Amino acid sequence: MLTVKGLKAAYGMHQALAGVDLRIALGEIVVILGANGAGKSTLLRAVAGLCEGQVSGEIALDGLPLHTLPPEEIVEAGIAFVPEGRGIFGDLSVSENLQLGAYSRHARKNRIANLERVYDLFPKLKERGRQIARTMSGGEQQMVAIGRAMMADPKILMLDEPSLGLSPLLSKELFQNLSRISATGLGVLLVEQNAKLSLGISDRGYLIENGAITGEDRASALLHDPAVQAAYLGGA
Ligand code: ATP
Repeated sequence: MLTVKGLKAAYGMHQALAGVDLRIALGEIVVILGANGAGKSTLLRAVAGLCEGQVSGEIALDGLPLHTLPPEEIVEAGIAFVPEGRGIFGDLSVSENLQLGAYSRHARKNRIANLERVYDLFPKLKERGRQIARTMSGGEQQMVAIGRAMMADPKILMLDEPSLGLSPLLSKELFQNLSRISATGLGVLLVEQNAKLSLGISDRGYLIENGAITGEDRASALLHDPAVQAAYLGGA
């Protein structure tokens, strides 16, 4: 279980997170919905130890405090992060990108088994191992980014706007893949613009406004909530 308590983040005078509490269990998919600038990326970056602002509050994975650890030890503890824009190495091959995901101590040990797991999930990455990553399509690059994060052998996979720039069909495929990943026992925490598809695969969701959590419910309840529909589902 990942728990976040009283998480605050500020960039100079700007308070981006004003005391956020959330939790996500292994095997669960949780989505964070919020308008532009609400603090969603800051939240994920703070959990990953990558927020450039001043951060305070408690973050723990299965009772192990993470907020005192450097980013590489947070990865070691079991948190993998796919940033917005994917963050893959465009000039390297697909298989080199995957290998680079296995840099933590425990991931290095399980590298072969993890690679098999990634190839099971994304057979295309096996076929295209030698292809230079930037020549892959947007959807394929997203697979590389997720595959690389999975090579870290995480307990929790965090993704910032993974469907950004993908066609509706590829977005659907992406979310199906996230369901398959969570079914293997990982917690999946995602920030998404595509509220409909992401709520469709999620167990629970949080609403964030101006750096504060303003709602939390089962994803199925949020899908039918008139306020959520008006704000995030185009009144659908
Ligand atoms: P979006 O959906 O537009 O990416 P978001 O919900 O992810 O938005 P954040 O990126 O977390 O929001 O930003 C929250 C607030 O913090 C915004 O007002 C943003 O301008 C500010 N902010 C984010 N990163 C920095 C930074 N590195 N330096 C200064 N201010 C920042």
